[in-house]
Amino acid sequence: RANKSTHGIFLPHLVASLEQVEQTYIMVKPDGVQRGLVGEIISRLERKGFKLTGLKLFQCHKELAEEHYKDLKTKSFYPTLIDYITSGPVVCMVWEGVGVVASARKLIGSTNPLQAEPGTIRGDLAVQTGRNVVHGSDSPENGKRETALWFKEGELCEWTPAQAPWLME
Ligand code: ADP
Repeated sequence: RANKSTHGIFLPHLVASLEQVEQTYIMVKPDGVQRGLVGEIISRLERKGFKLTGLKLFQCHKELAEEHYKDLKTKSFYPTLIDYITSGPVVCMVWEGVGVVASARKLIGSTNPLQAEPGTIRGDLAVQTGRNVVHGSDSPENGKRETALWFKEGELCEWTPAQAPWLME
């Protein structure tokens, strides 16, 4: 893999950052899909300069929702959270880049949309914690865990965006 694209083109400018490349699992939740915000949310991550490596519309089943949110099992809102996430299709995505996990969390904004800064997805597009339109992994470890949970092998694409040399020196 190293510093070659899938077409074998040598890209020396990418070598230094390879170890820093992270993966994050981003999901447009059912309210985001129903409200027609899929394009808007993808666009914000795309324009920032991160690389999309996985994308699908998916009806999440209960077992998967429970596994994804297993750390919140003891919370009072857990049953309604599972109902919410399984209430309609979600858009599952994997984004890659240097610092993508923390940066995507910043672009998404605070869990409670009323406390999320203007300019963030939740700050601009949502009003309630229980309808906060988007999920983003909270650590590089969870980025990997959630990617493996929501995507099968072969569903992700390894590619080199044409803009790569214009994003990273
Ligand atoms: P985040 O999604 O910002 O990482 P958490 O991991 O704390 O936030 O919570 C996961 C999701 O659970 C939230 O995005 C939200 O959909 C839901 N949630 C969290 N807290 C509440 C709450 N107090 N009431 C209803 N839903 C909640």
